[in-house]
Amino acid sequence: MKLDKEKIDRLREILSPAAQNIVIVSHTNPDGDAIGSSLAWKALLETMGHHVTCIVPNKYPYFLDWMSNISTLRIFKDDHNGECTRLIEKADLIFCLDFNQIARLEGMSDAIANNTRAKRILIDHHLDPPHVYDLEFSHPESSSTAFLIYSIIKELAGEEAITPQMGEAIYVGLMTDTGNFSFSYLTPELFRAVAVLVEKGIDIPQINSAVYNSFTEDRVRLLGYAINKMQTLRTNNVGVAYIGLKENELRRFHFQVGDSEGFVNYPLTIRDIQMSAMFLETKHFIRVSLRSRGDIDVNVFARRYFEGGGHKNAAGGKSYLDMAKTIDHFRKAVEEYFAQ
Ligand code: 5GP
Ligand code: MN
Repeated sequence: MKLDKEKIDRLREILSPAAQNIVIVSHTNPDGDAIGSSLAWKALLETMGHHVTCIVPNKYPYFLDWMSNISTLRIFKDDHNGECTRLIEKADLIFCLDFNQIARLEGMSDAIANNTRAKRILIDHHLDPPHVYDLEFSHPESSSTAFLIYSIIKELAGEEAITPQMGEAIYVGLMTDTGNFSFSYLTPELFRAVAVLVEKGIDIPQINSAVYNSFTEDRVRLLGYAINKMQTLRTNNVGVAYIGLKENELRRFHFQVGDSEGFVNYPLTIRDIQMSAMFLETKHFIRVSLRSRGDIDVNVFARRYFEGGGHKNAAGGKSYLDMAKTIDHFRKAVEEYFAQ
């Protein structure tokens, strides 16, 4: 990945005044990449003498609870005394990590868009960023934001600045966003970065096990239930699968944030399924997750039919209809999208 030297110089300049108040924010339903990138970037900025707080709109999944310093993260939704709003108000700089549309911050959007005097700096790998930032590191060719954070740290401070704790946080992002190094953009540079992290002493089997083998029994049973509910359709030689889970079904399995992470990938293990969708009912809307293989572009699909976006092979969006109507809308959208 090629970073723009001028932008790195500009970043260096922005960070040069000492002891600035910095806020790092990431997207709603933060995943391993959002959290790993935030914690690593916070650790680096602290070595430069800044006061740094990471804020996420809502709770991160429990399988990241073990990460070093995760308890220092603030959760906007649970902040009832306005501390997060004050931190955002008085921030000198706000780093926006792993998303590019401010709306992805949901309840926190207004605070970041309108209620701060801070410079906003984007570090992200999603497609089509709106140009509303003071400085943008937008690299859709990066497999994760964590890899971008690694590359920026390397340019800004050198590999030697990476501590084992930063290494661990970066690795969580690299690993989760690449589906354990199995999706796209698996470049030689990415594996060189992994080699450096191994030299720093990260324990890959331990990280792998902490993230992937730490589910509750209820979660695994919910997965079984979800797979049984899966529906498939075939249109113009494209196989599509979808799963809808309603709130009462989730309650039966004592659903916690993060439990459905990864479910949407399973239907793609069926040999002729090229696109998979999951609909998860929440209090105010249905959260839509989309995955695809090869040339099928779910970013375009999410934008066109579900007010969302993301990447070519992994995207998401929302539906304000009920489950039956959402699925009906989806089936019609699939027919239209794959017509001819
Ligand atoms: P997931 O299905 O894991 O929630 O999201 C898959 C990808 O789509 C992620 O890269 C995520 O950032 C993006 N994404 C998920 N939901 C939305 C949404 O509502 N709007 C946009 N623009 N992107 C989304
Ligand atoms: Mn990401």
